[in-house]
Parts: sequence; C-alpha cells; structure tokens
Amino acid sequence: MAELFYDDDADLSIIQSKKVAVVGYGSQGHAHSLNLRDSGVDVTVGLREGSPSRAKAENQGLAVASVADAVRDADVVVILAPDQVQRIVYRDEIEPNLKDGAALVFGHGFNIRFGYIQPAAGHDVLMVAPKGPGHLVRREYVDGRGVPVIVAVEQDASGAAWDLALSYAKAIGGLRAAGIKTTFTEETETDLFGEQAVLCGGVSQLIQYGFETLTEAGYQPEVAYFEVLHELKLIVDLIWEGGITKQRWSVSDTAEYGDYVSGPRVITPDVKANMQAVLADIQNGAFAKRFIDDQDAGAPEFKALREKGQNHPIEPVGRELRKLFAWVKPSDQDYTEGSA
Ligand code: NAD
Ligand code: MG
Ligand code: MG
Ligand code: MG
Ligand code: MG
Repeated sequence: MAELFYDDDADLSIIQSKKVAVVGYGSQGHAHSLNLRDSGVDVTVGLREGSPSRAKAENQGLAVASVADAVRDADVVVILAPDQVQRIVYRDEIEPNLKDGAALVFGHGFNIRFGYIQPAAGHDVLMVAPKGPGHLVRREYVDGRGVPVIVAVEQDASGAAWDLALSYAKAIGGLRAAGIKTTFTEETETDLFGEQAVLCGGVSQLIQYGFETLTEAGYQPEVAYFEVLHELKLIVDLIWEGGITKQRWSVSDTAEYGDYVSGPRVITPDVKANMQAVLADIQNGAFAKRFIDDQDAGAPEFKALREKGQNHPIEPVGRELRKLFAWVKPSDQDYTEGSA
C-alpha cells in the first residue's frame, strides 16, 4: 500500500517561515502562488521580461519580480515554467542566483529524471505534483477542498526535505485530499505514460477514429459528435465515481454486453503491446529527447501536429454545437493560448 499523507501529517509553519519564489504563472504557477499566499506564505512570482502573465499576477495582488531577483531572495524556488524551457531558465537565471541551501520544488520530474537539470549537492530537491490541472488546484482550494498531490524527494541536503515537501503540499491544499509518496522516476514515467497512452493520446485518437468511422459511413456529424465525444464525459464521471463496474451498472444491459464483446475487438492485445513500446521510449529517454530536440529547433514537429489536430473535422462540428449548449459556460470554451 502506498504511503499517504494528510493535513495532520504536515506542519504549515515550515513553509510559512520561508521566502518562496514561484517561477512561471501558467496553469500550475498561478494556482500554487495564490494558494500559498492564501495559506500565509511569503510568495514572489518570478517572470521573464515582457511576460504576458505579469499583469495577471499583479492584478491578484501578488509580488512580481524578474526570475533572477525573485530567486536571489528565496529560500524555496518553485519551478513551474514549461518543461521544455526549465533547463534554460535554470541555467541562465536560477542557478547563478540561487542562495546556498535554497530548496528547489518541481511540479513534474521531467528535467530531473532525464538529467536536463542537475542541481548542486547542497540543495534540497522536491516534487509536489498535483494530480489535476492547475485551474482545479486553485478552484478546489478556494472551495475548501484540494486536488491530491504526489510528493517526492530526490535530494535531501538539509535532512528536513520531507518536512518541507509536506508543508508545501499542505499550503497548496493538496493534503486536504491526500498526498501520495513517490519518486521522481516513478512520477515522471507514469505521468508521461498516462497522458500519452490513455488520458490524452489514447482518448483523443479513440474519439477521432470513432467520429471518422460514423461520418464516413454516412451518419450526421452532429450525431456522431454526441455519441463519441459529448457522452464521454458522462461515462468518465461514472467511472471516476465508482469504477468501471459502476459505469456498466448504470448503462443498459445492451450497452454493457456490447462493452464486453466489442471493447476487446477495438482495443486488441496489440494495443497493449504498443503501450509497452511507448513506455519503453519513455523509460529509455527517447521520448524526452525527441520532445526537447524538436523544441530546441523551434518546435516544427510540435507545431505541425498541433495544427493537424486543430483541423480534424470533429473540431468545427463541436465548436458550433457547444455554442448551442445552454449548460456550457463561455469561460469553459476559452482554451486559447495564454488563457491559462
Ligand atoms: P504553462 O505552460 O501553463 O505555464 C508556464 C508559465 O511559465 C507561463 O505562463 C509563463 O508564465 C512562464 N514562462 C514561460 N516561458 C518562460 C520562460 N522562458 N521563463 C520564465 N517563465 C516562463 O505550464 P504548466 O502546464 O503550468 O506546467 C508547469 C509545470 O507543472 C510543468 O513541469 C508541468 O509538467 C507541471 N504540471 C502541469 C500540470 C497542468 O495542470 N498543466 C499538471 C501537473 C504538473
Ligand atoms: Mg499528469
Ligand atoms: Mg504531465
Ligand atoms: Mg448512446
Ligand atoms: Mg446496467
């Protein structure tokens, strides 16, 4: 059984006695900064010159400084810039200004696991990674709840890195739900696998193939959209509440029988073999290298794939239909870049 932590296992006063710099004010950065501030922690947001996030952070009443200035003063530096730029920000702005003994906190283990950042021996290196999107990390905290976090210590220079990690996890509200003890290696490899094989990659491809199959067979795109995309959320909510068994209990016997006989025809054993190959490329660093090499070249592959995805025929159908849904708030449709 995994080791779990709750609010009573952590001492909030540890993080309250530190100066914290949060580098990056995106999805996770804004949530960590605001939750820390509301938990009585001294926070400064570190942003690059001309960052479009500066006004957003200042409007929330947060102190904002350059990354270098924020880091110079900080006992704890939280690195929540995008994974692909972290090593550059670390090399140019964090490392040269880092106080002796300052702790480093990550929200994902990518740069440590694959060696893109190698902190000097004197620094505690921690991870507090919410298992949910940043906007939920903030919303849940405001509502008095929290998003579960996974917590790891890669380097315990002070001998008190775990106490600091748990204190930080409590301050962002994670221990109201639960903290789960892990390692940088386990978090990084399972996170990348989950998003690639199931949550993002697997689900997106499944939806697109389902939509293509129905529309190519002559069915109306709007009906196909409802069947393979809109209803997915309702099904996933049931799975989330009570496992696959609750979903099968709630649907008709017809649907349940179809699940048993046709699920394994669609997702065949070679899909599992493909997943194992994806996992191997994560473990051996091939995925990380492909991602970072592409980013360093200006992200040509990433941009081309993003454009191809945005042009899939299901996207305009969904855009038009969602405008007609009385129950979808306009703010939930706003996923444009920079809205994070
Ligand atoms: P993001 O893309 O939403 O935001 C990153 C922010 O970093 C930007 O908004 C900007 O303020 C800043 N930034 C960008 N370039 C910068 C630069 N060159 N120098 C300094 N600051 C810069 O990022 P995110 O999705 O919040 O991811 C941050 C970290 O959290 C990553 O390690 C990611 O894997 C992890 N994480 C994210 C989520 C999530 O919900 N998005 C969930 C779990 C873990
Ligand atoms: Mg994840
Ligand atoms: Mg991830
Ligand atoms: Mg149906
Ligand atoms: Mg049933």
